[in-house]
Amino acid sequence: MLAAIDRHLESSAQAIIDLQRALVAIPALGPLNGGSGEKEKTEFLKDYLKKLGFPQVRELRAPDPAVPCGYRPSLAAVIPGKNAAKTFWVISHTDIVPPGDLALWSGDPYTLRVDGDILIGRGVEDNHQGIVSSLMVARTLFDLRITPDMNYGVLLVADEETGSKYGLDYVVKNHPELFGPDDLFLVPDFGEPKSEMIEIAEKSMLWLKIVVEGRQCHASTPEAGNNTLLAAASLIVQIPKLHSMFDRRDPLFSPPYSTFQATKKDANVENINTIPGRDVFYLDCRVMPGYDLDEVLAAIKRFGAEVEAQCGVRIAYEFVQREQAAPPTPADSAIVTRLMERIRRVFGNAPKLQGIGGGTVAAYLRRAGHQAAVWATLMHNAHQPDERTSIACTIKDAKVMAAMLFD
Ligand SMILES: [Zn+2]
Repeated sequence: MLAAIDRHLESSAQAIIDLQRALVAIPALGPLNGGSGEKEKTEFLKDYLKKLGFPQVRELRAPDPAVPCGYRPSLAAVIPGKNAAKTFWVISHTDIVPPGDLALWSGDPYTLRVDGDILIGRGVEDNHQGIVSSLMVARTLFDLRITPDMNYGVLLVADEETGSKYGLDYVVKNHPELFGPDDLFLVPDFGEPKSEMIEIAEKSMLWLKIVVEGRQCHASTPEAGNNTLLAAASLIVQIPKLHSMFDRRDPLFSPPYSTFQATKKDANVENINTIPGRDVFYLDCRVMPGYDLDEVLAAIKRFGAEVEAQCGVRIAYEFVQREQAAPPTPADSAIVTRLMERIRRVFGNAPKLQGIGGGTVAAYLRRAGHQAAVWATLMHNAHQPDERTSIACTIKDAKVMAAMLFD
């Protein structure tokens, strides 16, 4: 059975190219990325799923007044299996990020280019590879008229690139009826080029905007003002102390500790001979699960209070992003052990389990009590110019997904 499925997948290169070409040609950018959402691309995919043979394709519309149609669509489609009480879900996202500087691309980002095994275009890896491999599995099951041992669910969600509020977060909160307690979840949106890694845990994320208000004055009379750049710098040099205050280590993560980094700094005054009265900078903190982000914020505010007293400034804190880490998916869970075994079969390796500092949509599933693993075979050029994907990896990933459906 699996040998026949593998052979069929191995002959699917042209179908993969055709689907990638169609997807690349329909940019789906969220409104925060300057686009009009995922409607057109999702309509194409809905039609594609129906033509493949899915008996029912549900469209889940998250209301969003920021796009012309007023909603952000996600799709859920299931192929019934012999055991109808259990579904293996593969969850990919339809939205992409903007191409960035077009001069860095060697061609039009929205016209697929084929270079042997490599496909180039915006979105081909992030996350079309997941979409395409999951749909090639469905195509194979329909073509070969095979009923899997459990249901096969394909979920294509909107809004992953700008927060998931109108994507998987919405679906998990508003359509819990889709998911059963024994369901298995795979998110093929992160991974290593030789498939060496399965992500099962994430750090908490805290992005802080810090606004320092003082008093602007001429640089020749500093006593007439309160220099906010100096105050911001005084606060920034305290931030590394957080490493020893929140020092829990876990080798599951790389790096195996929390990170606290001052990153972006907004422009302040335009001329050199003015002492700035307002400075804005940002912190990116990735905190080991188990620490409460409120405690991290309280520690930063204590540093800030000292700086306020020393420098005569006021400091305000705004969350740009605040995601308390979800509970990790256990290493001995069904999704992880089954996936490890299938990856070993297809790739001939033993992937390591890892926690990452980023955030993937798996967190929404984990928070809702589902066991989700993040895995794919990726070349790591998501969001880059000349984004690329491998047809061979797409096929191998599809083989792993297909094998998940059979005991
Ligand atoms: Zn992605």
